[in-house]
Amino acid sequence: MRMDRITLTHVRLPLWEPFRISNGEVAEKDGIVCAVESDGLTGYGESSPMAGSFYSSDTPESCWKQLTTSLCPSILGRDFESLDAASSWLDQQPASNFAKVGIETALWDIEAQRRQMPLHRLLGATRDYAESGLAVGLYDSTDQLLATIAKYLPDGYKRVKIKICPGHDIELIEAVRARFGDIPLMTDANASYTLDDISIFEKLDAYGLRMFEQPLQGAALEDSAILQSRVKTPICLDESLETFADLERAAALHSFKIANIKIQRVGGFRNALKLYHRCSELGLSIWIGTMPELGIGQAQGAAMSALAGCDYPTDVEASLRWFRDDIIDPFLEVRDGLVQLPHQPGLGYRINEEKLQRYAVARQVIDK
Ligand SMILES: [Mg+2]
Repeated sequence: MRMDRITLTHVRLPLWEPFRISNGEVAEKDGIVCAVESDGLTGYGESSPMAGSFYSSDTPESCWKQLTTSLCPSILGRDFESLDAASSWLDQQPASNFAKVGIETALWDIEAQRRQMPLHRLLGATRDYAESGLAVGLYDSTDQLLATIAKYLPDGYKRVKIKICPGHDIELIEAVRARFGDIPLMTDANASYTLDDISIFEKLDAYGLRMFEQPLQGAALEDSAILQSRVKTPICLDESLETFADLERAAALHSFKIANIKIQRVGGFRNALKLYHRCSELGLSIWIGTMPELGIGQAQGAAMSALAGCDYPTDVEASLRWFRDDIIDPFLEVRDGLVQLPHQPGLGYRINEEKLQRYAVARQVIDK
């Protein structure tokens, strides 16, 4: 695998509504599209940290800097003996996972094209679809939350995830249960509670939720183990699982029962698959989360969600769920709660060059 040229495009697309979680909100979606050229093929990846660094410390600007000044210049001109060798090399570079993932996932697209197989097959999936779950953010009023859920439920999403934060939790779940009955429902707190809030989760435990996603701070694995011992609802870890060592420690402590694996958070497919295989060995349940990303990142998430053992619906939603437009053709669609995966080699979606240019806030071509 020879690295010939990388074109980076920082795009910014408008959202229908601000995406708000416990730590902040965004009104526009930023992403860095990485087009990697190798041996006559072009693969696409997306580096997609949240603007405002409220999910992690990474931002589109910090990833752009790492990609343009260090990662791209040092990988170009290299010739790797395999995809695994290239991915492993990237993993060892001093840059953030959110920057590396743009290049790493593009290499998988190239490899799948070279082998003439769809990306999900290269990853090891046998299914041709992903089950999709609806995620809704925080709103000023409970009525707005209920209206959003009511709007999207007819698309057949396989579960509903609502964001919670201190002061906005039990009454939201109560309202959703009162209006929509026994739908598959879960919470995501994005690490906004502490063990002092244990009584809130003991109360939420009565609502038959699928899981509590990341109730406590990422590093608080001991606390998470205490909380898990006090509630029957499974705890799902997201922000906590950045590295393989995090997973091992969390598993040894019994801090959780379900792993949310995000391709962006862990720096690409190679690490995501390592976590996936280890979770399978440990008997932990798995699903694939998103931020959400633009179409490239979402399509990658859908491909990985087709793996056996990804037992819970993914965060991957329809392209037009959050964004007023997307950079892939065709758009991702959810029908009867499913995303059907493409049969074409590679990612299986065309990247719309005209839209890349229309939404570009920066572009750079880096040659060896
Ligand atoms: Mg989460």
